[in-house]
Amino acid sequence: MPAKQTKVGTILDPDTFFYTIPLELPNQRLTREILGKHFPMPKGRRAHMGIDAEYKSFKNGLVSVSVKLPDNSENILFLHVGLTELDIACTCGMPDRKLCYHAYMGLYSLTWHHYLDFDRYYWPGFTADEKVKDKFLTTEVTKNWISVKSKAKYGNIFKSTIGFEDIEKFPLVKPAMVTTIPTGGQQAISYCLTYNVGSHSNLHLPVLMPCLGVTNKHNDEVVSFKQFNRRDKPVVGVIYSINQQQLNEISIQQFDIAKRHYGLTGEGKKQEAAKAKHEMLNLWERAIPLLLNEKYNYRYYTYWLKYLKDKPRKADIRNCRYSLEKPALSFILKFHQDHFSFVAVVTVNGKPLKFKFKPHLFVFDDATELCYLMPSVQDDDFLMWVLSNNKRLTVLREHLNEFHDTFLAKVSSSYPVAFIDLKSQKAVPYNFEMISNEIT
Ligand SMILES: [Zn+2]
Repeated sequence: MPAKQTKVGTILDPDTFFYTIPLELPNQRLTREILGKHFPMPKGRRAHMGIDAEYKSFKNGLVSVSVKLPDNSENILFLHVGLTELDIACTCGMPDRKLCYHAYMGLYSLTWHHYLDFDRYYWPGFTADEKVKDKFLTTEVTKNWISVKSKAKYGNIFKSTIGFEDIEKFPLVKPAMVTTIPTGGQQAISYCLTYNVGSHSNLHLPVLMPCLGVTNKHNDEVVSFKQFNRRDKPVVGVIYSINQQQLNEISIQQFDIAKRHYGLTGEGKKQEAAKAKHEMLNLWERAIPLLLNEKYNYRYYTYWLKYLKDKPRKADIRNCRYSLEKPALSFILKFHQDHFSFVAVVTVNGKPLKFKFKPHLFVFDDATELCYLMPSVQDDDFLMWVLSNNKRLTVLREHLNEFHDTFLAKVSSSYPVAFIDLKSQKAVPYNFEMISNEIT
C-alpha cells in the first residue's frame, strides 16, 4: 500500500500518518471502485449502513470530517487533496499504516454519488495560509458539504497546475485565415448628375441619369459603368426599388426637358426656356431627397447631351454628395479709387462656397465637395450672368449714381449687398448716400 509520512504546515502532529489514494484526473475524482482497492470491502447488504459522516471544517488545507460508525467509534478524518492524490489521516492514527475502517467507511459515505470530485478542495497557494484563503476564497461549511469558492471580486481565480475554471471549454485554437467572400462585383444602379459648364451654346440643363454599373470588391463604389437607362434604351433585368422607380421617372422627364431647352436659344424663346428651367428645378427638388437614399451617386461632366447615349466615360465621373441646404446669394461692392467691383458670393449657413465653374442650377462646393441646388431660377440665372465675365462687374467711379439708379437699387432690395468700407476694410451693408459722401 502506498503511504506518506508527514504533511508540513498542518495543525496536526508532524508525525501524523497519512494514507495516500491516487485520484482520477480530471476533477481529482475518488470513486467507490478506487476506494474498494484500498480496503477489504465489508460483505453483506447492511455492511455500509449506519454511517454518520459530517463535514466539520476546511482549515490549513485540511478537510476534517467526523465519522461515527455502528461500532460506536467516533473519529475525525483529515483529508488533504493533492493534484493526483488524496492523503487521509484518522484520529485513530492508522496504527497498521493501512487505510483504517473509519476512513474507508467515512469516504464511502462521502462518495454517496459513487464518486466525489475533490478538486473543490484543491487550491494550491491559497489554503495553506488561512489569511490568504480568507482574502481570496469564501468557505462555507455544512454537515453535508463544504463549498470553497473564489470571492466574486476576484472573478475566476487561476489554480496552479489546473488553470482557470471552465477554460477547457475554449480550445482557443488559432482561427484559420478567414477568406473574404467576394461580395463585390455586383450589378448596381448608380445615379449620375450629368452637367456641363461654360457659356457656350453647348451648355445644357443638368439631367439625372440612372446608369447600370458594377461595384468594386467592397461594394462601396461603382467601378465600371455599363449603360445609361433611357426611355428609348432601358436597362433591363434589374429590380428597381420604389425610390429608384421614382428617380427613373424623374430622369426621363428631365431628359425631355433638357432636349427641349437646348433648342430654345433664340431671343423670342426666352420665356419658354425659362419655363423649362423652372420645370427642371422642380424635378431636381423632388429628386435630391430621393438621391440621399441611394448608395451610388456620381456627377458626370458631359460635353453635350449626346454624351448621354450609351454610358459615361469613367474619366469624367466624379463622386457626388448632395446637400438639402439651399445656398444664399449675396454680393460685395468694393471701391478701388477710380472704379468699383461687384462680385457674387454664394453662402450656406453664412459660409461662402468655393467653386471655379458653375453649371445650370447647381453649385459644387470645392471645399466640401457637396452639390447644392440653387433656390430659384432667378437666383441661378442672375448668378450665372454675374459670373459669366470673369466673375465680376466693374463700374467707373463717376458712374456710381447711374449704377445705383439703374441696377444696384433694385439688386440691393432683393439681395444682401455688402460694401467694403474704405477705412476699416470691413463689410458694411450697402448704403448709397454713405458711399457717395465717402468717395466725394
Ligand atoms: Zn481510523
